[in-house]
Amino acid sequence: MALVVQKYGGTSVGSTERIKAVAQRVIKTVQQGNSLVVVVSAMGKTTDTLVNLAKEVSTSPCRREMDMLLSTGEQVSIALLSMALKEMGQSAVSLTGAQVGIVTEAEHSRARILQIKTDRLEKHLNQGEVVVVAGFQGISTSEDLEITTLGRGGSDTSAVALAVSLKANRCEIYTDVPGILTTDPRIVPEAQLMEEITADEMLELASLGAKVLHPRAVEIARNYGMPLVVLSSWSDNPGTKVVSPLPKPRSLTGLEITKAVDGVELDNDQAKVALLRIPDSPGIAARLFNEIAQQNLDVDLIIQSIHEGNLNDIAFTVVKKVIKQAEAVAEAIAPSLRSDPTQLDEAEVMVDKRVAKVEISGAGMIGRPGIAAKMFRTLATEGINIEMISTSEVKVSCVIDEADCDRALSSLCQAFEVDSSSLASSTENNPINPDNIPAVRGVALDHNQARLALRHVPDRPGMAAKIFGLLAEKNISVDMIIQSQRCHILNDVPTRDVAFTVAQADGETAKQALEELVKDLDCGEVSVDSAIAKISIVGAGMIGKPGVAAKFFTALAQEQINIQMIATSEIKISCVVAEDEGIKALKAVHDAFNLAGDLEVEVPA
Ligand code: ADP
Ligand code: ASP
Ligand code: MG
Repeated sequence: MALVVQKYGGTSVGSTERIKAVAQRVIKTVQQGNSLVVVVSAMGKTTDTLVNLAKEVSTSPCRREMDMLLSTGEQVSIALLSMALKEMGQSAVSLTGAQVGIVTEAEHSRARILQIKTDRLEKHLNQGEVVVVAGFQGISTSEDLEITTLGRGGSDTSAVALAVSLKANRCEIYTDVPGILTTDPRIVPEAQLMEEITADEMLELASLGAKVLHPRAVEIARNYGMPLVVLSSWSDNPGTKVVSPLPKPRSLTGLEITKAVDGVELDNDQAKVALLRIPDSPGIAARLFNEIAQQNLDVDLIIQSIHEGNLNDIAFTVVKKVIKQAEAVAEAIAPSLRSDPTQLDEAEVMVDKRVAKVEISGAGMIGRPGIAAKMFRTLATEGINIEMISTSEVKVSCVIDEADCDRALSSLCQAFEVDSSSLASSTENNPINPDNIPAVRGVALDHNQARLALRHVPDRPGMAAKIFGLLAEKNISVDMIIQSQRCHILNDVPTRDVAFTVAQADGETAKQALEELVKDLDCGEVSVDSAIAKISIVGAGMIGKPGVAAKFFTALAQEQINIQMIATSEIKISCVVAEDEGIKALKAVHDAFNLAGDLEVEVPA
């Protein structure tokens, strides 16, 4: 007999009719000989309605009372589903997070799960009952036994954490679409269903805007190797499997706060090419990377930063042995990039062969901004200057001077208590052969981001540590951190501009925090722009395949969409564009990679 955890999202339990349909599906699963724990979300848009009620009585309701309010939504659906099951002759019992013993940190509205007690669940399961558990909520360990919530969309995380704690055979996430698709079918109805996706790819997609799964749910499944499948509660289609690498043994205590970093890697076969002062207009990145792709050169990191005026920098890294070819391409293209033929300040190519890349990786970094800040602080303590930064949900990479690489490696291994011999690769142990993975698996759009820019940051070790340490203290997660390549001399001090993206809700808080810092550090002004959209392509198959970036940038150029920022990691490329061009960009890019299927996906209202 298998033990299965099923989770049904808001739309799946949006009406009493739907709840009855879910009850039938649950009973069918029991009749197939399985034991069942069912996690449910609040009905339909209940959580949004509750949020709006709070706004009617308070301009800034405290997080404790919000948790008290929002946790009621799930309590309604567990009771109704249990009643429906009993009405159909299936014994069942509903339990809140507190009744189960889903123990979390005392952090209201974003609590992480520490441990799940299984005795009460097991007792009911042994009595042949279906246990219906409220998703999204837990209870703190403090004496006060505070009700906590895990963050919006957190029922997925409740389900996977329950599955792992109960050592279930699999976890099934039922939703309103047939599974994980190449993009959001509400924007692109021709989005295609995937049979499977790696947990690393799904982590990136989920955190870059594909809300079909809560990223923390994917993280737990990946860490513990829990078989996870996403499928529709409207059909009997098999859905999409999320495939995890073979897990290392892990304790179930401190479930969501286990070691954040499990690998430190060094790559000293890197060289950097930067194009400075190139026009900020559509089509420039496309031209450059098309030329690079024609030479069959594989590019590793790409960054493009914003700048004062209408000139930009683009920098990229390649393996050392092709640096001459990459430089030649850049030199050949630079003169033609001059925006104004009479302008003297023309594009310039800068090459640095003496660089190395150090990286920390681990799925536990998600939503823990303190980890990247700790990396920057560690490098700063060693007096190591960071030349380029690139972040993804599961990795932070820094390009540094080659001469510093040994010190960087040993200090990071020590800081994160990682044995340098256990260099972790995210693709290591992956059951899917990377050669069989398409270059681009999916495209995601995130409208809820804001871009912050900090001008004239003195170019010396420790600045990134200060900036991102401060934001980490405020629990603000940062993505796409980019420093300009050009130095601007201000009062005899070389300075660079730093730009990065945060969730829109954190934009103003981040700006206020940085304004204080700016005074102490002698930096220039801080600006925030919320009218941006981030569009990203994700695929483990893009590793070692030249031309993927070129195709992405060309699709945007053909639509005359200007790229404001570019950042990459091994398996993703993200571009910031103007907010009102986000949807057009998503459609164009989805098309360019031939991701559309023959059938339109219908999403229930
Ligand atoms: P639930 O209430 O079941 O948790 P969500 O609304 O949280 O459902 O997530 C499902 C929604 O995610 C879909 O209706 C779809 O609009 C959206 N979505 C965004 N990106 C994707 C994607 N790549 N694949 C599938 N669905 C996606
Ligand atoms: N009901 C909660 C929300 O709407 C949790 C969830 O549905 O996953 O965010
Ligand atoms: Mg959801």
